[in-house]
Amino acid sequence: MKDEKTLLKNIRTYLTEEEKNFVAAALQFAKTAHHDQKRISGKDYIVHPLFVARVLSDLKLDAQSLAAALLHDVCEDAKITPSEIKEKFGDGVTQIVIVLTKLKKISIREKDLPAGRQDIKHFDERTLIAIDALRRVFVAMAHDLRVVIIKIVDRLHNIKDIAVFDREKQRRIARETLYIYAPLASRLGMGEFKANLEDGAFKILDKKRYKGIKKHYHRMLKQAKKTIKATSSLLGERLKKEGIAAEITSRVKNIYSIHKKLIKVRNNYERILDLLGVRIIVKTTEDCYKVLGIIHQNYRPMPGQFSDYIALPKLNGYQSIHTLVYINETLPLEFQIRTADMDYQANFGVASHFYYSEVLKPKDKTSGQNIKTPKKELIWIKELAEWQNQIKDSKDYIKELKIDFFNDRIFVFTPKGEVKDLPAGSTPIDFAYAVHTDVGDHAAGAKIDGMMKGLDTKLSNGQVVEIITNKNQRGPNPDWLKFVKSASAKDKIRGYINKLKKSDSYILR
Ligand code: MN
Repeated sequence: MKDEKTLLKNIRTYLTEEEKNFVAAALQFAKTAHHDQKRISGKDYIVHPLFVARVLSDLKLDAQSLAAALLHDVCEDAKITPSEIKEKFGDGVTQIVIVLTKLKKISIREKDLPAGRQDIKHFDERTLIAIDALRRVFVAMAHDLRVVIIKIVDRLHNIKDIAVFDREKQRRIARETLYIYAPLASRLGMGEFKANLEDGAFKILDKKRYKGIKKHYHRMLKQAKKTIKATSSLLGERLKKEGIAAEITSRVKNIYSIHKKLIKVRNNYERILDLLGVRIIVKTTEDCYKVLGIIHQNYRPMPGQFSDYIALPKLNGYQSIHTLVYINETLPLEFQIRTADMDYQANFGVASHFYYSEVLKPKDKTSGQNIKTPKKELIWIKELAEWQNQIKDSKDYIKELKIDFFNDRIFVFTPKGEVKDLPAGSTPIDFAYAVHTDVGDHAAGAKIDGMMKGLDTKLSNGQVVEIITNKNQRGPNPDWLKFVKSASAKDKIRGYINKLKKSDSYILR
């Protein structure tokens, strides 16, 4: 099995001895658990978790992620209990596997989904609400982004293997992929995954259109090939003269993104200006700007078709310079200029940060929960949270969904973008205690989405809550018991009151 070999080879390059053994043990465990099982395709079941783990090892994800990927289907499909996993592989891995198993049960109802050709802008409200709710669940899980990354890779494999299902199931999986997983991959900056998910799904949903676009596009690429090649080699020589080391490749657009653009321009290919493109990878940011200068000296740039995502990165972290120029009277060509790091980031996004943040910090052995969140991610999580504001009036969206574990919970954010999971009806006091006992005990005021609000205000999904504390406040107010919802807040307030009573009676005696 190729994936197994590659996985074992990959982990030798970046994991410690101990971690390698940990992953190998998980592999052995998964093999035993799935040993008599087949995928619907007839292949041995283990090929699936192996694929997921192998891709993650290409991205140099940590040992816990790899083990969780190998074990991600054993609870559901091989009847292994979480406590068995916990005993052998610890709490971190188990938490990831539990969430992944839960996520499997969540899906959008068929009738809430639009037909394949529609663009998301034209969806009706019901559909948007259903899609939004599913995204919310993912956002809620974002406190450990490794879950989301594993899920995206899991879906990538499933969409490759999709032919074995009946038509209806294929379409359901494809739509979910297109409207939930691909946008998620995009938000997380995982460009390569996004493109593969989109094209895999689009092929199922509208095969005729997919094939039509592909054919047309490839014909265009073929026609322009000579010109692009000549331009590239000419430019390559100029850069060499200037002493700039560069790798020049032609870049291809994914079919679904062409489809989306075609809708906007009424199927006129000529109006999609950035259909043809060249990517230039250089060593330093400084070189990026030098290359830009050289291109603009030699070719006429198209007005208004220049973006500097290096100075102003996209919210998902994407960095590159884009400029559209005419390489002759009629042929527009888009140049994308970036460093190798930026290129890696563009393809693998958030996943590419785990390794780097990981090796710099000592491992947290005690729990897998509060593991390293690279700073950049916080912005992305906030951005994910913004999805939640896209749809208003969705008060009863929860009822619309087949989500069993989610009904009675809400998910709110700290100003830093951390998710707090609370019972429905929770107030800023519940939130404060979820942050820290000290914050709860000294809570004096609350800002909800930037506005001062009462401490008994009912919170709703997606809000950003900031607690204002007063250090001189002696402790919680007993009146808070009238409105708090979470058991832990109640406990702590009661605990404080009891302590106070005891000490009072002591003094009285
Ligand atoms: Mn799976």
